[in-house]
Amino acid sequence: MSSDLFAPLQAGRTRLPHRIVMGSMHLGFEDDPRGAPALAAFYAERAAGGAGLIVTGGISPNAAGALTSGGARLDSADQLPQHRTVTDAVHAANPEARIVLQLLHAGRYAAHGEPVGPSAVDSPISPAPVRALTAAEVEQTIEDFGRAAALAIEAGYDGVEVMGSEGYLINQFLAPATNRRDDAWGGSAEARRRFALEVVRRVRASIGPEPLLSYRISLADLVPGAQETHDIHALARGVVEAGADLLMSGIGWHESRVPTIATCVPRGQFAPLAADLAAAIDGAVPVIASNRLHTLADAERAIAATGVEGVMLARPFLADARLVQKWRAQADAPGGPRDESAPADSPVVTPCISCNQACLDRIFTGRPAGCVVNPRAGRELQLPIMPRAAQAQRILVVGAGPAGLETACLAAEAGHEVTLVDSSAEIGGQLAWAARIPGKEDYSLLLDSWRERLARGRVNVRLGRRFTAEDIAGVGADRVALAIGVRPRDPQIPVHPDAGPDVITYADVFAGAPVGGRVAIVGGGGIGVDVAQLLAERADEVHLLQRSAHKIGSRLGATTGWIHRAALRRGGVIGHTGVTYGAVGADGFSFTDRDGAEQVLDVDTVVLCAGQEAADPVGALGEAIGAEALGAEVIGGARKAEGLDLERAIRDADAWVRTTLAA
Ligand code: NAP
Ligand code: SF4
Repeated sequence: MSSDLFAPLQAGRTRLPHRIVMGSMHLGFEDDPRGAPALAAFYAERAAGGAGLIVTGGISPNAAGALTSGGARLDSADQLPQHRTVTDAVHAANPEARIVLQLLHAGRYAAHGEPVGPSAVDSPISPAPVRALTAAEVEQTIEDFGRAAALAIEAGYDGVEVMGSEGYLINQFLAPATNRRDDAWGGSAEARRRFALEVVRRVRASIGPEPLLSYRISLADLVPGAQETHDIHALARGVVEAGADLLMSGIGWHESRVPTIATCVPRGQFAPLAADLAAAIDGAVPVIASNRLHTLADAERAIAATGVEGVMLARPFLADARLVQKWRAQADAPGGPRDESAPADSPVVTPCISCNQACLDRIFTGRPAGCVVNPRAGRELQLPIMPRAAQAQRILVVGAGPAGLETACLAAEAGHEVTLVDSSAEIGGQLAWAARIPGKEDYSLLLDSWRERLARGRVNVRLGRRFTAEDIAGVGADRVALAIGVRPRDPQIPVHPDAGPDVITYADVFAGAPVGGRVAIVGGGGIGVDVAQLLAERADEVHLLQRSAHKIGSRLGATTGWIHRAALRRGGVIGHTGVTYGAVGADGFSFTDRDGAEQVLDVDTVVLCAGQEAADPVGALGEAIGAEALGAEVIGGARKAEGLDLERAIRDADAWVRTTLAA
């Protein structure tokens, strides 16, 4: 039976087909009119996949509010054709789908040279000093919102969303931290609210009563000098009175040091704030909950348990364009979400794992968004949906890490008969290890989805036995993919054979090797930081060392690195940068520190996390025979270890199946 999630939702004069909103995401194609076809294809595929209400990435109502220099804005009729490409594509793909344009004035977050704000309070995450808007400029900005909203309707959008959260201009007016004005636009909570209310009023006046007007409201700013909860509720009542049809939740400013969307944030954590807001406005308009509502169960729970009227998700729509269709099929399936009797091409959601790596981290560093788990996200025009193969082949995939798993699943979904083997008793390879790191437990959602796809694709999975060349030949496969992954790099640190600390690799740690109370970790990259977080929970003393002088974890993602560094600090991990390794001997682990002083760490265990090398097919298969002799093709980390991560592994699999097996 479908749940309430799939009941229609009335918002103002707009009837939405269900209660799942595809929230605003900046994709990086918005800034260049030539990006319109890619943007149209991206949104149209999601509309075809069942999205009922799509909110675009933020578009500024004027030049000052653009996120970057040359960033997207809507301030002239000349820009309408590119928007019509998008709105026409969405409406053609799904006549029930509605798309609204988000109006976002970046204020002090603008990364161009001349950011403006309510007051001259510089932003810790933008380079240029902030100039306070004059009273006349405040009035003009409100006008600009009204003009942009009218243009949006002319371009075929079904409404607009006013971005009032995440620390952008409107939110800056609302919070005492950034609004120090003493004119009509600041000084009291009521005066600070005035800008938001005037914008909503002007937007409603310029679009008329019919189109949808959504207001994205900051339910918790999570910065010093934030709005009080009673002020947020008063704002909500005012916004509704000013003409908003829908209140969309927003949590935390971009500069906030409280994690709000990373994997470590408990799912559904912020839904109660939306429920409080719904109560505060007495149900006057629908309130949509957001943040870390990533599964069907999360969404259903939010609606059933908190009284909000809908859920908003953004990244999960990057990970899976057919999310809504698949959720609906899961909810309707007689056996519930995991109905094993369904055919191979039945819906299995590819879950977003909240890593931020290919979406937000790319956007914040000026690159177009993609998705680690979905190579097609943002590349719908280049990579069409995988076709079914004209002729089924027998495929053997050796290695059940991410590259092997994705290869096996895609090949089965393309109609091939697939066998997947691995010497380990479990699927997942390094991803299964990552899922054991504190705060990364959600990575197991991806493992679950692979398990389900393997089952539905009737893949013959044979685990727990090392396959030899003879075994491979015995399968009689038409094609063999060797996805045997990587092995830890040996940093060649001299080790005394009989005395001193044990020296093991990160792979040994995950395999259950004993680790002493005092530990030194060699290598402060992604895996070194992960292992330090894991061991900080068990060991008495953890040292993390690297040769380069930059701070530990500085190459981690822009939006998550700080969370990992904070976890290391909380765990008491002692970092050593700029070191030269000495040796592991009877006294302990010696190295020269960044000041040139000799140091010896009296530790029980040294864990090597010094990067990775391609696994050697000869050694891995236990046979003196190369891949070519087996008629096998090498994919994933085994093909090229450099730069290997989850995204590369999945992309490699997609590329191999696309070029070798599909069609
Ligand atoms: P990595 O991030 O490249 O780090 C390798 C570390 O080993 C570096 O700290 C490097 O530091 C050190 N190293 C390299 N060669 C060495 C040598 N010969 N001797 C001693 N030390 C050496 O690689 P990884 O940690 O193996 O991670 C693999 C991939 O997974 C990366 O793409 C990574 O980004 C990704 N990953 C990301 C995360 C995350 O974002 N949280 C978590 C896990 C994995 P020095 O050269 O300074 O010594
Ligand atoms: Fe989710 Fe990671 Fe994909 Fe972003 S890159 S949508 S966080 S899985």
